[in-house]
Amino acid sequence: MIVKDDYLYFDNGTQVTFKKTPNHGGLKKAKKYLIIHFDGANNATSALSWMLSPKSEVSAELWIGRDGGMVQLLDFNTTAYHAGKSQWKGIIGLNSYSIGIELQNNGTQEYTQKQLDVLLEVSLALNKAYNFDDVLGHEDIAKGRKVDPGKLFPMSWLREKMFNRGSSRLTTSDVNLRKGAGTNFEAIEVIKKGTEVNILSEDNGWSEVFICDTKQKGFIINKYLN
Ligand SMILES: [Zn+2]
Repeated sequence: MIVKDDYLYFDNGTQVTFKKTPNHGGLKKAKKYLIIHFDGANNATSALSWMLSPKSEVSAELWIGRDGGMVQLLDFNTTAYHAGKSQWKGIIGLNSYSIGIELQNNGTQEYTQKQLDVLLEVSLALNKAYNFDDVLGHEDIAKGRKVDPGKLFPMSWLREKMFNRGSSRLTTSDVNLRKGAGTNFEAIEVIKKGTEVNILSEDNGWSEVFICDTKQKGFIINKYLN
């Protein structure tokens, strides 16, 4: 999957089905979080017609069916109405700071493998485009009010695939963490041997990393990571 100009495409260049919902706000303030939901509906038609009806006043940027079929309902830069009253790390009202994905599930079903495969591909493509801070469930940002995507959703699997959290340590000392992927970029800080880092992405011999202790983000040459 590829994200181009805030729309989703398959690798062969075909655009994912786009049906614009009337239920939206203005431009987002930021795209910091990916938020996962279940739609709670009994079938695909009712879920989609609900989000496309102005009466519901609800929407998400993307819906993924149990067969892996997808519908994009808004460009990723426009605010959808999926989170409702919500907060996370000091942000109130996550709609303007996130992208919401609805998974077809009546609330009691297992997620299908096809659905999870597609969700992973989409999440990786979105993360590549927008470099999220994290992926969260609706239940995380609306505690006590919402229960989706629920215990049957493999959140730690998705988070690990998206962010490779807690996976690598520096093998040598005094390595520069830099602002970009190259020695021409300014050094932010010097990292010591054994420092734990989360690899966010890899490109051309460099990794974008998150330093667990200092919460600093930057770039390190791959060969210094185990
Ligand atoms: Zn939800």
